[in-house]
Amino acid sequence: MTDCLFCKIGAKEIPADIVHETDRTVAFRDINPQAPTHVLVIPKAHYANAFELAQADDGLADDLLKAAHAVALQDDVAETGYRVVLNTGPGAGQTVFHVHAHVLGGRPLLWPPG
Ligand code: AMP
Ligand code: ZN
Repeated sequence: MTDCLFCKIGAKEIPADIVHETDRTVAFRDINPQAPTHVLVIPKAHYANAFELAQADDGLADDLLKAAHAVALQDDVAETGYRVVLNTGPGAGQTVFHVHAHVLGGRPLLWPPG
């Protein structure tokens, strides 16, 4: 998709602090981190949100979750615990409409979220 920030990061047209990559996913540190580990995992292909991804490409949502766990292992938060968040829709706080999984960890995370 033209003019999508995360498509451009996925294609390496815009720099990001990339920490993990597979053939179909890229993970990079959030520019405004909310926890010691705050990484965004995206598919390189453009889907607006989690539902569009799950509907359109069987298997890619699995890849995204596996990549999220790989990031947690890499950042050493897999054992203490981490949160995977897929904000879906503006009311839930989605601001970038290219699906991305937030991987948060490295501090106690409260529940319920705000
Ligand atoms: P959301 O509000 O769930 O759509 O999340 C969008 C996230 O993208 C926010 O946490 C932003 O801080 C993050 N973000 C926006 N632009 C960039 C960028 N260029 N590099 C890294 N993270 C970004
Ligand atoms: Zn995109």
